[in-house]
Amino acid sequence: MSDVSSTKRILEALPAEALEGKRAVVRVDFNVPLADGAVADYTRIRASLPTIRWLQRAGCRVILLSHLGRPKGRVRPECSLRPVAAALEDELGVPITFIDDPPSEDARAASRHLKRGEIALVENTRFLEGEETNDPAVAEVFASLGDFYVNDAFGTAHRAHASTVGIASRLSPAVAGFLMAKELEFLGSALASPRRPFVAVIGGAKISGKIDVLEALLPQVDQILVGGAMACTFFAALGCQVGNSLVEPAKVELAGTLFGRADGKIVLPSGATIARELRPDAQTRQVSRDAIPEGWAVYDLDRASAELFAGIIRSAATVVWNGPMGVFETPPFDAGTRAIAAAMAEATSRGATTIVGGGDSAAALAQAGLQDAVTHVSTGGGASLEFLKGKPLPGVAALDDA
Ligand code: ADP
Ligand code: MG
Repeated sequence: MSDVSSTKRILEALPAEALEGKRAVVRVDFNVPLADGAVADYTRIRASLPTIRWLQRAGCRVILLSHLGRPKGRVRPECSLRPVAAALEDELGVPITFIDDPPSEDARAASRHLKRGEIALVENTRFLEGEETNDPAVAEVFASLGDFYVNDAFGTAHRAHASTVGIASRLSPAVAGFLMAKELEFLGSALASPRRPFVAVIGGAKISGKIDVLEALLPQVDQILVGGAMACTFFAALGCQVGNSLVEPAKVELAGTLFGRADGKIVLPSGATIARELRPDAQTRQVSRDAIPEGWAVYDLDRASAELFAGIIRSAATVVWNGPMGVFETPPFDAGTRAIAAAMAEATSRGATTIVGGGDSAAALAQAGLQDAVTHVSTGGGASLEFLKGKPLPGVAALDDA
C-alpha cells in the first residue's frame, strides 16, 4: 500500500505568499453532540484549533464549513451550527461571523469583509440539497466563499460530498489540514511500512462492516486478535454452540473460510465471560468457547483470553485496534476491553506504534483514562475502517498531490 501522507500536499508546506490575506475555506468536523441548544462535548472543536490558529497566524481569513447531524438537505433548526459558533467564540476568545445562507450574495460579501485572522462559520453544509450528492452547483457555492481549500475533516473523507470532494477541484491549492495530515501519517505509515510484529485487534458489534477489514488486513499483519461479538461468529463457524450471543448468521461461512486460510494468523479467544442477562449485577461465568450453555450469551473475553491478547499486544511493534472486546458499557463486561487498553498503553511506553480507531473503542480508551497513552486515536470511525481496508478515501484523493 502506498503511503498516502507523503503523497498529499499539506497545509504546513504552503509558502507564506499562498496564505497571506487569502480566504481559506476549511472543511472541519463540527458534528458535535448538542444538549439544550449548547455544545455538550468540545473534543472535535478543540481538535480543529491547531489548523485554525495556524491559518490565523499566517494572515489568512478563515471560512469554516461543517455538517452536523442528518438534516438531509433541509433546514432543521435543531441541526444548526449556531451553538458551535458560540463554543468557538469561547475557545478562541474572538467574535465569529455566522454565515447562515451560503448561496446568498450576503454570504460572499461576508467572506470578503473578513479581515486577516478573522473567522466565519458557515451554517450546516447538509442544509443544502446537493451537499451529499456532490452537486456541482453546491460545490460552486462553497468554493465561491474563498480562495483556497483545506480539508481537516478526516471523519467524512470516505464520503464524496460537495464540501469534501466537489470543492477541492474548484479551489487551488487544496490541501490537508493538521488533523487530516496526522490521521494520514499514522494510519498511512502503519499500513505502508509497519514495524513488526504488526498486530491487529478487531472487535465490536458491527461484524458485517468489519469482516471486510479483517480480510483486507490479513495479508498485511502478523496476527489478528478477534474479540467482541465478532468472535461469536467465528465460534459458530468452528461449530460451537453460542447460546444467545450476538452472531451474524450470514457471515458464519465467510468467517470459517477466512479462519481456514489465515494460516494461524487469526487468534480467537479460547473462552468467554458469559451471562444470562446483560446487567451489571448479572451472575457471570467463565467458560471455554465450546461450553456456552443454551440461554447464556457471550459479553466479554474470559480472563485467560484477555491475558493471551494482552501478552501478544505487549510484544508487538505496531498495533491497530478497532472494536471493544465486550459490552464495555456494562461493567463487569468491560474487563477484557480494559485489559486490551492497558496492554496498548504498555506497548506504547515500550516504543510500539499503537493506533485506536472507532468511536466506541476511543470511548472505552477514554473511560480507562488512557486516551493519551497510545500513539494515535483516530477521529474517524468509518473513514479509518475504509482506510484500513486499503480503499482510497474520496476526500483525500481530491486533494492536491504533494
Ligand atoms: P467501534 O465504534 O469502536 O468501531 P463498534 O461500534 O463496532 O465499535 O462496536 C461497539 C459495540 O460492540 C459496543 O457497544 C459493545 O457493547 C458492542 N459489543 C462488544 N462485544 C459484544 C458482545 N459480545 N455482544 C454484544 N455486543 C458487543
Ligand atoms: Mg461504534
